[in-house]
Amino acid sequence: MANRHPLRRADRRLRPAARPVRVPWPPHGKVEAVARERTSSACPDDAPLVGPVRTCVGCRERAAGRELLRVTAGSDTHGQPAVVPDPNGTAPGRGAHLHPTSECYDLAVRRKAFTRALRARVGLSSAPVGDYLAHIDTASRPTD
Ligand SMILES: [Zn+2]
Repeated sequence: MANRHPLRRADRRLRPAARPVRVPWPPHGKVEAVARERTSSACPDDAPLVGPVRTCVGCRERAAGRELLRVTAGSDTHGQPAVVPDPNGTAPGRGAHLHPTSECYDLAVRRKAFTRALRARVGLSSAPVGDYLAHIDTASRPTD
């Protein structure tokens, strides 16, 4: 009974041994201790809300001022009173803040929140902000 076939042995030797790769893994307790140490140490870069906290006039949620788009009362390209985007936050006068998303923009338009937040005596056209958001929306959208 020659069940050890020579061909079979050769075949076995040709194949690279599929050895499990051993990854050195520290004991569980040690890993936990390291993780706890990292989360407890106060890292200034991780602070989510630094600087001024503003309320979005659309969804009414509070967020760091730099996450929101500042808008001010100004005039559109036709000289009509309008809400205009102030991405640099440098325009003088009263400003309102908004998440730079079409969702929050739509909410703000529906509630007439811009006019109220900017204390405008007349209704403001919010088209410039809508145009601005549509522009940055298409610029940041992945092309697929
Ligand atoms: Zn919002």
